[in-house]
Amino acid sequence: MTFADLRQKLKSGEVSSKELVQEKINRIKDIDPTLNSFLTINTENALSAAEKIDKQIASGESLSVLSGIPLAIKDNLCTKGIKTTCASKILANFVPPYESTVTKKLLKAGAIMIGKTNMDEFAMGSSTETSAFGPTLNPWNITKVPGGSSGGSAASVAAGLCYGSLGSDTGGSIRQPASFCGVVGMKPTYGRVSRWGLIAFASSLDQVSPFANNVSDAAEILQVISGKDELDSTTVDIPVPNYLETLSKSIKGMKIGLIDNCFDHEGLATDVKESVLSSASLLENLGAEIVNISCPRFNDGIATYYVIAPSEASANLARYDGVKYGFRSEEEQSLIEMTSKSRALGFGSEVKRRILIGTYALSAGYADAYYKKAQQVRTLIRRDFDNAFKKVDVLLAPTSPTTAFSYGQNLDNPIAMYLSDLLTIPANLAGLPAINLPLSIINGLPIGIQICANYFEENKLFALSQFLENQFIN
Ligand code: GLN
Repeated sequence: MTFADLRQKLKSGEVSSKELVQEKINRIKDIDPTLNSFLTINTENALSAAEKIDKQIASGESLSVLSGIPLAIKDNLCTKGIKTTCASKILANFVPPYESTVTKKLLKAGAIMIGKTNMDEFAMGSSTETSAFGPTLNPWNITKVPGGSSGGSAASVAAGLCYGSLGSDTGGSIRQPASFCGVVGMKPTYGRVSRWGLIAFASSLDQVSPFANNVSDAAEILQVISGKDELDSTTVDIPVPNYLETLSKSIKGMKIGLIDNCFDHEGLATDVKESVLSSASLLENLGAEIVNISCPRFNDGIATYYVIAPSEASANLARYDGVKYGFRSEEEQSLIEMTSKSRALGFGSEVKRRILIGTYALSAGYADAYYKKAQQVRTLIRRDFDNAFKKVDVLLAPTSPTTAFSYGQNLDNPIAMYLSDLLTIPANLAGLPAINLPLSIINGLPIGIQICANYFEENKLFALSQFLENQFIN
């Protein structure tokens, strides 16, 4: 069911919002003790918000676009009065005194916030195994990871525990788990969506956006959360197009680029490669033009990201000092000891690894060799994309080199874990919009395709995705 179907059913009285919420809460109670996709279930607030919507419907008031629809929110988005932990011990008891801009917009549009979802600690990871509150399992196969860092948001949509959710994507944390869980997940252009109230990881890369069961629902959520925000100076004052109107656009003559460099990669699984290439041929048969594109710096994305993201993280996470808020070691000790102990006990090992790498890369004598060099390579990667978009409308690639991997498989090998974002990171470094679309299922696990467009051309992503979705459904 799409949001449009749900609106129809709510309006006609065929179903009430309270029934929708209750049904999801019952399902969460049944299934989530196994999956662990939620960290907080917002039962009472959700039910009372649903009752209010039902009264509005009964009295004939006009409804907002998301009225009465239960959505889930990644636990790194601040929700006023509701625990927001970032899946870290250091924020285990943090209750924000304010609401993030994106959740405020969703609530204003009538959405019901059903709960907060599990994630890798501080959004650092690709498997949701680094959460201080235990891993999330993949609903397709519980011996596999759901991807990360927004694994809880992806798994909760895939398992039918909510109708859509928000995640954050710094290096692939929406698209990669969407690919592993077989749902739609997109990352908008940097500056399209406000990050006010998003707990910062790497500020020049972080973006918030939706997971959904289908393309039109993703477009509807993005429509609601997009736009300039006075509280986030990185948001851009460019009008937000009507994404739903672009969904039915024809793809005849659309120029679709295939980046050679990402299909050459030795880590790319053959079945993933074949499914993506076969959908490219399908599109060609249906009227699109396929163009081979070379992005020579594409494969330098990982090395570049793992200098820039930890550097920004080391600065952003300096605020967790045991003084202002969050976990504090209560032993009798000096201020320095208290701060060190609070951070040592409060952060998990992946977060500490990032802080150490970032502090090192920014330190006097090394900043030019590492941080500055990484920023220069970042510019080269961006230029590769600029050149590509002179020739094509969109770029097509796999989202992840493999389908969902097994629990523990990469946990002791950070480099192997980092490589799972090989194909998603370049779009973050360049600030471009990109989407994951479920493509096929192999050995019981979903494969996703990634489409990337030029700045602020989310409408092209939606148009092509909707076209492909129709092909699969029919
Ligand atoms: N997996 C990547 C990392 O660990 C990306 C995370 C993200 O997008 N939040 O940094």
